[in-house]
Amino acid sequence: MKICMIGTGYVGLVSGVCFSDLGNDVICVDRDLKKVEDLKRGIIPIYEPGLDELVIKNYKNRRLKFSTDLKDSISKSDVIFICVGTPTKKNGNGADLSQIYNVAKDISESISKFKIIITKSTVPVATGDEIEKIILKKVSKKLFTVVSNPEFLREGEAIRDFNYPDRVVIGTMDLKSNKILKNLYSPLISKGAKYLNTSRRAAELIKYASNAFLATKITFINEIANLCEKIDVNVEDISIGMGLDKRIGGRFLRAGPAYGGSCFPKDTKAITTTADKYKINLSVIKSVIKSNESRTSILLKRVFDLLNGKVKGKKICFLGVTFKANTDDMRDSSSLSMIPTLVKKGAKINYYDPTGKKDEFSKIKTVKFSEDIKSAIQGADLIIIHTEWNDFKSINFKKEVKNKNFILFDMRNIYSPAKMKEQKIKYFGLGF
Ligand code: NAD
Repeated sequence: MKICMIGTGYVGLVSGVCFSDLGNDVICVDRDLKKVEDLKRGIIPIYEPGLDELVIKNYKNRRLKFSTDLKDSISKSDVIFICVGTPTKKNGNGADLSQIYNVAKDISESISKFKIIITKSTVPVATGDEIEKIILKKVSKKLFTVVSNPEFLREGEAIRDFNYPDRVVIGTMDLKSNKILKNLYSPLISKGAKYLNTSRRAAELIKYASNAFLATKITFINEIANLCEKIDVNVEDISIGMGLDKRIGGRFLRAGPAYGGSCFPKDTKAITTTADKYKINLSVIKSVIKSNESRTSILLKRVFDLLNGKVKGKKICFLGVTFKANTDDMRDSSSLSMIPTLVKKGAKINYYDPTGKKDEFSKIKTVKFSEDIKSAIQGADLIIIHTEWNDFKSINFKKEVKNKNFILFDMRNIYSPAKMKEQKIKYFGLGF
């Protein structure tokens, strides 16, 4: 199949590369010239395990191409996936759909034979209707269909998730498009993915409802963790005990910092905004957003308490600053508010992240990036494990820190409190 991916970010690049690896001819288009030039030279703009080999392999065998020329790429393709960003509006909580509508307009100027236009971006209910209206201004109804095919991949696991999804959701009532897309996804269906054909609006809502539900699970266990801290119970026991119930399941049920990343914060806000428009109050999701927003202050209060309120001049080390492991994505990571708050209180921050130095902190004088774990933790008064990278799971703190009185605050509950006690480390986690 001849495919065009518009937007070569986490979703467009990964999906494009994986489609090409399945034997399709794929052109990945982006308006960012540097990104496209880098990709042609084998330089991958994002950190995603396994992605570089797959890009290089498929680019070399010419099934994968990169371009900035949208018109040309559309004319050479039968199936067009829109994978551009849908961030939160600058002045509001709804999704900013300007990138989507700009692309729709560009597409409308480039169609001369039948195309299936698919939104893979996460878009509010009825966005497909709007895209259709925009294209209809220039193109006959016979020459295109607009389908919703939300993407469920997770950063850090994106290639595996693309190749082994739990489900492929196709929102269209058009039989021809449904048949073509079922065929496109047949290699994944034959490996066990469930194929679900729904209305376009239902497909759009499935994505938001799924993300809102996962955000709710995380927030739920974070609140239970707050209670556990007061009653001498370990939240890890609660997560396991609850998770063993098949109706609940153990995934997304681990206490940690506020959920962040490029999806949950914006998608929870967007779905409640959509519902408000229809005068429906999604009160559960609204509480989740509020609770998550308060999570960072709760954890910062614990940091202040651990330091007996004396933050000024303290050396605080952050291990990991991204919102989760195996990604370089800093969008809405809780470190973005924790670190500046601690700096304002006079702390000196050292951080190490396996994906390298972050521009977000480069302008803050008292925030330093360390090239490795050892130099990051050396001499620290307080070490915060912020992100659950495997790299942080077997550190010999006793040997490496070189400050007898250091405190370890493990926001991911990686280490065993009993073992830390044996080593006489002042160890604190979440929910116990
Ligand atoms: P991203 O910001 O990483 O990438 C978007 C890309 O689109 C950028 O490279 C940008 O330059 C490009 N772009 C914007 N306008 C363009 C135009 N007119 N022509 C060509 N290129 C254009 O975004 P992302 O994280 O890949 O997310 C894309 C969508 O997928 C969002 O709606 C997001 O909610 C959804 N999604 C993301 C994830 C994830 O884990 N990141 C998972 C599932 C769904």
